[in-house]
Amino acid sequence: MLYRIEGIVIRSTDYGEGNKILTLLTDKAGKVGIIARGAKKARSRHSSIAQPFTYGEFVFFRSSGLGTLNAGEIIESFHRLREDLDLAAYASYAAELCDRALQDDEAGEFIFQQLKACFMGLAEGKDPEVTVNLFEMKILETAGYAPELDVCVSCGNEEGPVRISVQAGGTLCRRCWSRDASALPVSDGALKLLRLFRRLDMRRLGSIQVSVETKKQLKAVLRSFFDTHMDLRLKSRAFLDQLDRMNQQADAPLRERRSLYDDGK
Ligand SMILES: [Zn+2]
Repeated sequence: MLYRIEGIVIRSTDYGEGNKILTLLTDKAGKVGIIARGAKKARSRHSSIAQPFTYGEFVFFRSSGLGTLNAGEIIESFHRLREDLDLAAYASYAAELCDRALQDDEAGEFIFQQLKACFMGLAEGKDPEVTVNLFEMKILETAGYAPELDVCVSCGNEEGPVRISVQAGGTLCRRCWSRDASALPVSDGALKLLRLFRRLDMRRLGSIQVSVETKKQLKAVLRSFFDTHMDLRLKSRAFLDQLDRMNQQADAPLRERRSLYDDGK
């Protein structure tokens, strides 16, 4: 059967002499594997559409198993996401989440639209950490592990301070949080953002200012959900962390220099 379908390249691996195997997240057919013959060669007509993160229209033949790419047209190349090392790291993480965290029947049009909006947000210069945190929440929702954040998961109480129990799947109120010694404390700011993320479609993300401390809490909560419920061990996440440490080290002397200048004023 011949398909003509919109998709985003979430994985591109070399295969044999000059070929690539692409994993596409499509709008109407879930995740699809196709072989792009000759795509490894720079002059091939398939070489640019076979690059990771490319959003395009793919025409391929498939009866069962891997499809074969006949033709493709790029709608948005997202080249910025490949050229900037930090953006590439975030985009790889989002793509690998789609590849590894979702079953085939979960990869429907909703998550296709969310990934497209995530890549657009990154390419447009939105805060990459916030953008990816929101995308992580959409993945958790799609995979059925979204946290309950509006009421206490143990007693239904809607009032007062809460902690987040990853084991119990959401917030615990002050009366109940002793049931989970590992429940994570969250600030009002972090809780508000997590609740917003539960309701927000990626396509509606504006620019939000988030403090370093709040970002740390968002990261800790979301990661715990992935690690406790899914255990994915993604290569792209390890790389992102490595990059983060490098950037922090690079920033440190700069901060020292700044404070020296400030003292001189
Ligand atoms: Zn409670």
